[in-house]
Order: sequence, then C-alpha cells, then structure tokens
Amino acid sequence: MVTGARESIAPGVLGLDPAELGSCVACGLCLPHCPTFRVTGLEIASPRGRIAAMRLVDEGAAPIDRAFRDAMEACVQCRGCEAACPSSVPFGHLMESTRAALEAAPRRERPWRRRAAEWWGYRVLLPHHRRLMAATWLAWAAQRLGLVPRRAGLPRLRARSLARPLRPTGAPAGAADVYLYPGCVMDAWQRDVHRAAVAVLEAGGGSVVLPGPGGDCCGALHQHAGRLDEARRLAGRVVASMPGDAPIVVDSAGCGAAMKSYGDLLGTPEARVFSARVRDFAEHVRERDLALRPTGRAVVVQDPCHLRHVQRAAGAVRDVLSPAYELLETDDDGLCCGAGGTYQLLRPELSAAIRDRKVAEIARAAEPTGRAPVVASANPGCALHLTAAGLEVRHPAELLADALSARDERTVDR
Ligand code: SF4
Ligand code: SF4
Repeated sequence: MVTGARESIAPGVLGLDPAELGSCVACGLCLPHCPTFRVTGLEIASPRGRIAAMRLVDEGAAPIDRAFRDAMEACVQCRGCEAACPSSVPFGHLMESTRAALEAAPRRERPWRRRAAEWWGYRVLLPHHRRLMAATWLAWAAQRLGLVPRRAGLPRLRARSLARPLRPTGAPAGAADVYLYPGCVMDAWQRDVHRAAVAVLEAGGGSVVLPGPGGDCCGALHQHAGRLDEARRLAGRVVASMPGDAPIVVDSAGCGAAMKSYGDLLGTPEARVFSARVRDFAEHVRERDLALRPTGRAVVVQDPCHLRHVQRAAGAVRDVLSPAYELLETDDDGLCCGAGGTYQLLRPELSAAIRDRKVAEIARAAEPTGRAPVVASANPGCALHLTAAGLEVRHPAELLADALSARDERTVDR
C-alpha cells in the first residue's frame, strides 16, 4: 500500500506497543462498524487495514509516505471498531500513538497552508479564550456581511449571546456542588447550551461554578491530532483550574472523553483523581431529581462516538430525556456521523459522505412521526456537522431545560 514520496524513518519509530498491534487477529468483525470502510469499501480505510499498515511501518517493512499518512488521517477516530472488537484491540491508543509519531516526523508532505492553519488554530486560538472570542466576533461580523457561506460549518452567531458571559447563580469556587466546564469552541459558539445546562443543574438542586483561570481548552482536538505535548500542557492547566473535590460536569462528549483520560495522558495521581471527578452532563443529571413534564414531542437520539464508544455513557442521555420525550432510535448501531472534531474541515468529502448515511438513518427513524426530525446530540461537533446538513439539532441540556419550563409545545418545537 505504500507508494509515492517517501520519508526516511527508522523501524519502531511509530513507538507502538507490539502486544497491542499483535492483539488484532484480523477477524474483520469491526469492519461494519467503521464509517470510512462503509463509505469506501476499501481495506486500507478499515480498522484491520490500518492496523496492518501500522504494523508494517512500525516494523520497518514499509516507509511512512503519503499513502500511509492518508490512511491514518482518513480515520475519524470514532473508535466504533474498538467497541465492536472481540479481541479488545485498543485501536484508539494505537491511532493516537501513530498520529503523534506522524506529527513528530518530517512534515514536508503537508502543504504550508495547512501547517499555518494548524499553528493558528492549535497554538494561537484554542488555548486562549479571549483570542477565540475576538475571532468569533470577527466571524459574527463576517456572517452579517454575508461573507461566510452557509455550509462553512459555522453556527449562526448571535451578538446577544456572545456579549452575555455565562454566569451561574451558584456558590463561590470551593463551595459549589459542581463545576461546569464550558470549553473553548463550545463556549464561543454554543454558549446557550451551557446556559441550558446551568438551568437544569440548578433546577436539580445544585450550585454551579465555572473553572478558574487556565481552564480555556481541554486539549481534546490537540490529542486527536497527535499534538500530545500541547495536549498535556492544556490538560495540566485544566486540572489546576478546578481545585477541590466537586464533580466536574462536561456537556461536550468530546471534551468529557478527553478529560476522563487525563489520568493516562498525564500519568500523575493528581490527574487520575481529577479524571475520576469528570462526569458527562447526562450522567450527572440522571442522579438528580428533576421535575420534568412530558412534552409530547419526539426526538431522534444521535450518539456521539465519544459518549457511546469512549465514555460508554450513551444510556444516560436516554434515561434523562425519556420522562419528557418520546425517543426514536436510528438503526445503524451508533455509526459515526463523520464530524470527528476537525475531521469535517480536513476531510470534507469523506466526512459529508459519512454524514449522508447518518442523515438518511435519522430521517428513517423520524418517519413514524410524519414530521421533520429533531435530533438530540450531546456533542458540539456532531451538532454543528448535522446542522450544516439542514437538520434541527438540540443538546439534551436544551431539551431538558425546555421540559423544565414547558408551558406549551412551542418551547420544544422550534
Ligand atoms: S481490530 Fe478486532 S475486530 Fe477488527 S480485525 Fe482486529 S481483532 Fe478483528
Ligand atoms: S476509529 Fe472509526 S474510522 Fe477509525 S478505523 Fe476505527 S471505526 Fe474506522
């Protein structure tokens, strides 16, 4: 499979664990659960094919080249294969290690524009919330001037929401029942979801506080891209931003998955204790008494991969929504929607092809209602990706906030 321009690389430089590589018995049971295999039908776009390619490169039997990079970067990192694998192959760890090795290897095959965009995004914007907010205001202005194409993946930004900081009514840090982690892009682009989450948490009888300085970005996107040193730096700041022992509620499935893995990423006792405090929003709310009223409305549940396959907490979303909504299920065994963090930007065609399948599944699930589907998604990236395809997507926190205050059906039928 290895063709094209070559980079010199020593055997073993991918740094993969031979036992992890060897645990794949090539049975192929993961293939139907792989979105890139489903849309391409190519072995190299499957988990089994990727593991075989990793093994060849790691053993020095094949070089890193454009085809290898392409096969690795075409993986959405959804980890659907890991959940389906009967041999418990730790595919996520293998892919993360491979991405880190590729990131450290010479980068001349990556166009300068992409490298500049990565530097701008990963180093300049995401770790610094004020800069991200300034860029978001510029994006808002560009939207108003009609300079941003509708399908650019940017949500409709609202000045009123951007200008209003997130302010829980709760106790001072240290005395709160829970922290709510707002994150970077989600706080800039989807702050109303956090407002809904605060309303629900407070309705459940808890006081909520936000992280202190340094809690700007959890580093999940950096980790995905193999930028592990940056991810560790950000993780350390996030850990320090939420002292004490209060639970840390995260309403982004991707951020929550990353923060639950800080123990492994940082390898310190402090990070392990921190990770044990992290809970997905639905996991936390499930244990609270919420007075919800049935809305009489139906929603199609979309499982973000990092909630279903990594946090294994997709059931919590159903538990919290079911008292207020009729839940409709897709029939695709939780197949990825193709968002994958920055994947939707870096691999737009593959990402859109994967999404087309999901959109069709969602439409099928909603058919009995005879209405356009409302989708419940607990991950901001999935929500943006599906919204760009014309779907109405709402976070479980928003749906619950509507059900708390539901006066009539219009509050949930927007
Ligand atoms: S990753 Fe697991 S399911 Fe997939 S081919 Fe290997 S052993 Fe089989
Ligand atoms: S992580 Fe997802 S896209 Fe990547 S090989 Fe596994 S199933 Fe396929």
